[in-house]
Amino acid sequence: MAEKLLEIKNLKKYYGKGDSQVKALDDISFDVFKGEMLVLLGNSGCGKSTLLNIIGGMDSPTEGKVLLNGVDITSFKDKELTKYRKEKIGFIFQFYNLLPDLTALENVKMSLNKKDEEHLSEKTLELVGLGDNKMKQYPSQMSGGEQQRVSIARALVKGASIILCDEPTGALDDKTGRKILELLQDIVRKEGQTMIIVTHTKEIASMADRIITLRNGKIEKQEINEHPLDAKDINW
Ligand code: ADP
Ligand code: MG
Repeated sequence: MAEKLLEIKNLKKYYGKGDSQVKALDDISFDVFKGEMLVLLGNSGCGKSTLLNIIGGMDSPTEGKVLLNGVDITSFKDKELTKYRKEKIGFIFQFYNLLPDLTALENVKMSLNKKDEEHLSEKTLELVGLGDNKMKQYPSQMSGGEQQRVSIARALVKGASIILCDEPTGALDDKTGRKILELLQDIVRKEGQTMIIVTHTKEIASMADRIITLRNGKIEKQEINEHPLDAKDINW
């Protein structure tokens, strides 16, 4: 039996009031299991980023709970929430969100409490395919795919419980995007990481262990993918 890592319970996020109210999330419940790759699929505006941001402790719901190992993170005060974000969550964004004035290595080290853990940061950069010559470069000197690899290393290095990816290939060309998906899948398969990938690209869902489709803030369907494709074989 797969171990439950995360429980999302009756999550609601409403913006505004009255006629102009937007129900970005309208009573969403699901579980996330340890070591799975879950894809949240849906058109633009269906609530994917809102959901991911709440799970990541970057936004708070109007109602509902998010339990990580049974602990409700929506009840956390600022200090606990900061610790949660720093220690438990690895976030990968569409536009990488690297600090421009820091090298690749420094960007990765930033996410560790002990900044002197140079060796671990180097090893993690190697794991994502960036060698010695890249580590000392600044984001502006790197391609989009390389920058995304740095951001993946930054998420991985701290040993986060869960990695959240919001349209991780959205800014990349198809070939580079596929390489990034291969890397993400490798990390789930070889490192046993738990990962949620948010995307509006249907084809990406074929590599997931499970797919939850959202529509207008609600879950439209949940599917188990008995035979997830290798990222290199997805038809995209
Ligand atoms: P997705 O990531 O699936 O494209 P979002 O989660 O960004 O969707 O947005 C869901 C809905 O909530 C959209 O209708 C969006 O316009 C609305 N929304 C998101 N953030 C805000 C905000 N800060 N204020 C008002 N409406 C918002
Ligand atoms: Mg979004």
